[in-house]
Amino acid sequence: MNSQANSKIDFMRQIRDEILVLKSSPLYEYRTSNKYFPVIGEGSHDAKIMFVGEAPGRNEAKTGKPFCGAAGKVLDELLAHVNIPRESVYITNIVKDRPPENRDPTPQEIEVYGPFLDKQIEIIQPKIIAALGRYSMGYIMKKFGLDLELEPIGRAHGKSYPAKASYGPVEIVVLYHPCVGVYNPNNIPNLKKDMEILSTLIA
Ligand code: URA
Repeated sequence: MNSQANSKIDFMRQIRDEILVLKSSPLYEYRTSNKYFPVIGEGSHDAKIMFVGEAPGRNEAKTGKPFCGAAGKVLDELLAHVNIPRESVYITNIVKDRPPENRDPTPQEIEVYGPFLDKQIEIIQPKIIAALGRYSMGYIMKKFGLDLELEPIGRAHGKSYPAKASYGPVEIVVLYHPCVGVYNPNNIPNLKKDMEILSTLIA
């Protein structure tokens, strides 16, 4: 393994270690009292595509792995639809600890965990960041100065926005959260269609 790969692993470990003891997080107590894990992320540290979800659910908090429950099954189906191996991408969330009862993340939680996602983006340096759901869309688009282009996810889904990262150009892709396909499997064909934008961008 070369030294760049080593240092990416070290930087990711630092993030994990900081989150493990993040007592200032409103979700710290809930995690530790339930013996849950923080969910840092999973996949290739050299991924061209990074998927950013909202926050871990129960299965994820029990295993420490992102998108390993029902929404993960839908995400796997969407990845298979565009022939992108799950191991080739990096999958994470904005909020790294499970909010109680899978409620939406609060602005405070997004503020606490956002800087860790920012660091992960700098480590991986993806060419494409796929925001899954409206919270991720809001955070990522604001981070990349796309505030003026923000619109409801019902209009933004399936679109891509060129932006500039510190390391070079990046495309921000907005996708519905895969849970939309869990609540109603009739939505899956539309989710698959949106996903096809990734094939176009990596072609
Ligand atoms: N939903 C998310 O946003 N992230 C996960 O990891 C699982 C479900």
